[in-house]
Amino acid sequence: MRKPILAGNWKMYKTVSQSLSFVEHLQGLVDDLEGVDAVICAPFPSLYALKSQLEGSSIKLAAQNLHQAEEGAYTGEVSALMLQDVGAHYVIIGHSERRQYFGETDESVNQKVHAAFKHGLLPIICVGEDLSQREQGTTKQLVEEQVRAALSGVTADDVTRLVIAYEPIWAIGTGKTATAQDANEVCAHIRSVVGEMYGKEKADGVRIQYGGSVKPENIEELMAQPDIDGALVGGASLDPGSFAKLLQGA
Ligand code: 13P
Repeated sequence: MRKPILAGNWKMYKTVSQSLSFVEHLQGLVDDLEGVDAVICAPFPSLYALKSQLEGSSIKLAAQNLHQAEEGAYTGEVSALMLQDVGAHYVIIGHSERRQYFGETDESVNQKVHAAFKHGLLPIICVGEDLSQREQGTTKQLVEEQVRAALSGVTADDVTRLVIAYEPIWAIGTGKTATAQDANEVCAHIRSVVGEMYGKEKADGVRIQYGGSVKPENIEELMAQPDIDGALVGGASLDPGSFAKLLQGA
């Protein structure tokens, strides 16, 4: 009922020519993408070039961030309108790296969610705890706060169009994956929080991804979990062969 969504977050990797060559390679490896929404979250400079190359393909583009303002004197920033114009369909919002290194807060995440919807971009909202929070046993509470803040003011119609990515910070780029059961438990909690806010029927329509050291070797076990509807993948999405395997596994 919920279509799986597999997104490759390239982070700050790949020039335009490397991005184009990745897609050319990938297209030779996958032909049937019926059962999964495939998304490439490319750096800003690559988006426009990828838009033309992906014309007619079912692979969708995402940006990795946006600014919450419509336009203005914000040197170095990129707006939702600009992203929509260069072919982005989704946008990652509130990735832990943005929260950690660029001062993003639950409040700015919420503003960005609204800015995205205003210009027809679908948010992929990231939430997740760090190692000390996990060890203190506050994971669910923290993730719940992040979800409630991010969704503040979002309509019931919009909520089923966005994606929530649960990414425990301690599992990102470390090779440590949450066990499929632990990841599912937090994703199920996220769904129950969305259910409290919007009702069970809406919550059942929201896609929730897991992210953090997802690879071709563990994708199937993660996808087999009832509340995990896809993955947000960093390192293993950089190679077309590995990304193709992830798409097959999703
Ligand atoms: P890794 O897959 O490299 O752990 O990164 C996860 C991530 O941060 C995706 O957004």
